[in-house]
Amino acid sequence: MDITSEIAAARASILSRIADAARVSGRAVEAVSLVAVSKQQPDERIDAMLATAQRDFGENRVQEAQARWAERKTQFSDLRLRLIGPLQSNKALDAVRLFDAIDSLDRPKLAAALADAAQKAGRCPELLIQLNTGEEGQKAGIAPGEADAFINQAREAYNLPIAGLMCIPPADEAPAMHFALLAKIAARNGLRELSMGMSDDFETAIRFGATQVRVGSALFGARG
Ligand SMILES: *Cc1c(COP(=O)(O)O)cnc(C)c1O
Repeated sequence: MDITSEIAAARASILSRIADAARVSGRAVEAVSLVAVSKQQPDERIDAMLATAQRDFGENRVQEAQARWAERKTQFSDLRLRLIGPLQSNKALDAVRLFDAIDSLDRPKLAAALADAAQKAGRCPELLIQLNTGEEGQKAGIAPGEADAFINQAREAYNLPIAGLMCIPPADEAPAMHFALLAKIAARNGLRELSMGMSDDFETAIRFGATQVRVGSALFGARG
């Protein structure tokens, strides 16, 4: 199989697994969107994915995303780029200009920088707050116990358009309780978007209410 058919087949397979997982959970198939995580993937796989109807893409670094997408964004006006990795405050303006959504808002200083950048840019991407559901020392994100206060602060003090929550469960734990916790915190704060689930656990995430799953290697193959 050539790369174009290979990528199209991989996407069709993931979409059908998403549909099955939604159906068994009694959820509408359209309630779950697929974010194709294109970080560290070669151009030929990106272009093969763009030959399908896939338009939501996730990247974890601002500079890498600029290099990969600046030109392609002008060719595909319906692209939706999401930043799913950590953002330094001094790159907030670049990120606000490039991305349609930033899923990794994880601290007050960044909320302030994003509010400032949005004013300068005259636009604000959709924002998701990243929670560190496993309270891991090395991982970014707001601790679950501080989530309600931070969501309020981001909305009220910084006037930011917070659409939902994102999490990356600890690698060595069953993800279900982390997904359940994220869903519970989102529900009590009236947040609709839940970005959770990756190649190995997106079906579980869908059972717990994911509205976006972030799939990289299962779609594109192993990263280079
Ligand atoms: C890389 C990455 C993914 C995709 O991981 P796969 O296991 O390749 O599907 C999802 N979310 C985040 C935040 C990532 O950094």
